[in-house]
Amino acid sequence: MTSATGRRSDPGSADAAAVLPAARLVRDIYAEARRAGRPVVSIELFPPRTREGLVNLFERTLPAMQAIRPHFYSVTYGAGGSTRDKTLDIADRIQRELHATAMAHLTCISTPRPEIERYLLEARERGIRNILALRGDPPQNVDELAELESGFEYSYQLVTFIRQLGGFSIGTAGFPESHVACTEGKHVDWQRLKAKIDAGADFVLTQLFFDNDDYFAFRDYLVDTLGVRVPLTPGVLPILGTQQIKRFTALCGATLPPPLRAKLERFGDDAEAVADFGIEFATRQCEALLAGGAPGLHVYSLNRARAVTSIVDSLGLRG
Ligand SMILES: Cc1cc2nc3c(=O)[nH]c(=O)nc-3n(C[C@H](O)[C@H](O)[C@H](O)COP(=O)(O)OP(=O)(O)OC[C@H]3O[C@@H](n4cnc5c(N)ncnc54)[C@H](O)[C@@H]3O)c2cc1C
Repeated sequence: MTSATGRRSDPGSADAAAVLPAARLVRDIYAEARRAGRPVVSIELFPPRTREGLVNLFERTLPAMQAIRPHFYSVTYGAGGSTRDKTLDIADRIQRELHATAMAHLTCISTPRPEIERYLLEARERGIRNILALRGDPPQNVDELAELESGFEYSYQLVTFIRQLGGFSIGTAGFPESHVACTEGKHVDWQRLKAKIDAGADFVLTQLFFDNDDYFAFRDYLVDTLGVRVPLTPGVLPILGTQQIKRFTALCGATLPPPLRAKLERFGDDAEAVADFGIEFATRQCEALLAGGAPGLHVYSLNRARAVTSIVDSLGLRG
């Protein structure tokens, strides 16, 4: 297989990673930052749908984001593998062109095991050493046979599989308000998160939330009651638009607190005022999270540079 550098190497060989100084393991990044007493800043991106979007990402958005030197970027994976190649291509380009560490997301639901293995081997061959292991959301018309054949019903099984394959630092998703489909209550959901960590996850990135008390209750239960020692990093979404955030929270089950909703509605159609307020709110939220001991910030950027760069600058976190 020929890599983007033109070198030939076997899938799964470690030498592809060896030529990429940027391809650091996220668990090492957290360990180093912890020793230095600095929070880890990561930025989440999604693969643009169009060619123009991709050009914009690499020519404008990422250079603007690079000014703040985040510790790593993560690239989402479309439902059912719809962005499979794009996810790997973008993570690969970030490491080669920007010399920054990248993590590729991967979902396992309804995906045959050999396909998952191929993705991981290709990631490894390209020097991508970090995977966010997710279950993903079930498709509307679940093909039960495909689900059975995949062998992955929950993400802890994917974590186990990746750990057995070796060579990756593995992240997993946590839900401060509990996962939307968990009917047994948040403590049960958090115990399941502990199972994912026990299966081999090195760090947790959380779903977005707006009330920091949700994060601190989640963190305290995992650390004090369950004895978890890996970093539990809050996911923060700077609000960009009122309708958009109502849609997102409805989809992922996060709460949009009524006073925050009312405040957003008072801005009416003034999109710029909403975005400015979103940055200010997220900055204060991040400040309080770090003051309360959060190990870092994972910012859902929605492929926009302005909010994340201004939050990081306001908090004096430029790398
Ligand atoms: C930081 C972050 C990034 C994300 N990136 C993506 C992405 O790139 N692409 C994408 O499609 N989605 C993404 N998601 C969304 C994610 O795929 C969904 O939230 C999905 O519904 C749950 O994934 P999971 O890995 O948490 O699943 P799991 O850990 O498998 O949990 C799913 C549900 O199953 C329950 N459960 C877990 N284990 C068991 C068990 N042993 N027995 C019974 N029930 C169990 C849990 O309580 C939960 O309700 C992301 C989410 C986060 C927080």
